[in-house]
Amino acid sequence: MIAHRGASGYLPEHTLASKVMAYAMQADYIEQDVVLSKDDVPIVIHDILLDDVTNVLEKYPNRKREDGRYYVIDFTFEEIKTLVVTERFDSETGLQIYPNRFPKGTSSFRLHSLQDEIELIQGLNKSTGKNIGIYPEIKKPEFHHENGKDISKIVLNILSDYGYKTKNDKCIVQSFDAVELERIRKELKSQLFLVQLMEFSEQKNLLEFYASYADGIGPWYKHLISSKTADGFSFTPLIKEAHKLDLVVHPYTFREDQLDEFDSFEQMIDVIIHQAGADGGFTDFPNRMREILQAKL
Ligand code: CA
Repeated sequence: MIAHRGASGYLPEHTLASKVMAYAMQADYIEQDVVLSKDDVPIVIHDILLDDVTNVLEKYPNRKREDGRYYVIDFTFEEIKTLVVTERFDSETGLQIYPNRFPKGTSSFRLHSLQDEIELIQGLNKSTGKNIGIYPEIKKPEFHHENGKDISKIVLNILSDYGYKTKNDKCIVQSFDAVELERIRKELKSQLFLVQLMEFSEQKNLLEFYASYADGIGPWYKHLISSKTADGFSFTPLIKEAHKLDLVVHPYTFREDQLDEFDSFEQMIDVIIHQAGADGGFTDFPNRMREILQAKL
């Protein structure tokens, strides 16, 4: 069970507070999305943009690009640390995306570096005697290359410095970019556990290619389901075919406040994990997923 952006159902995503809460909720892994700053510091943030989780608009009104957006890569880490982070909102309307979550614009949260977060999790591992893992995602590597930055190289070096070097270390590296993830294995020679994220159902035809460098896949959970009838759910062959290739399957995202085709969170977890056979998954609500998985045992 992977805490998606921390315990993001309860606290603003990717804040250290949300990571501490995820840790206390017994996630197996805690996720970090990573984007480089202007001065090459890996920042833990979901997008290459700052404007839908921070007050960058008020703080640095003149630093937007021609498209009107504010990019992490245009700001130094020192500048980024001055921004206040809040619950995710629509940058056009100002309305928060999940209205029942932590109230937007309240309390005080900041962005931090990948190193800050690794030190937090490793520090908690020391003080609690547990061994919770990290699950960094390389965000938009092509965009970074276009801006003259090799994000994968920088992130892999930091992971190595903190002791994450092989598949035995509790670190899983993920990316949507297959070209880059293959490069991480073959050119950058990483021995870490690699998960290929999948956005489109047509990518099911690429499983053999993914298996040539990755250890797992991270599909959208909807691509595991073929139909829902009164008798229940039926499934696409994606998980079976992935398992035949020794790929683990970690679908995204289990959200108790966004159930879509499911009647309850219990049903969602039962269908995707127990019926379809996924090996784990990303959740915004680690305590609830933990409770439901344990009740089933
Ligand atoms: Ca992610």
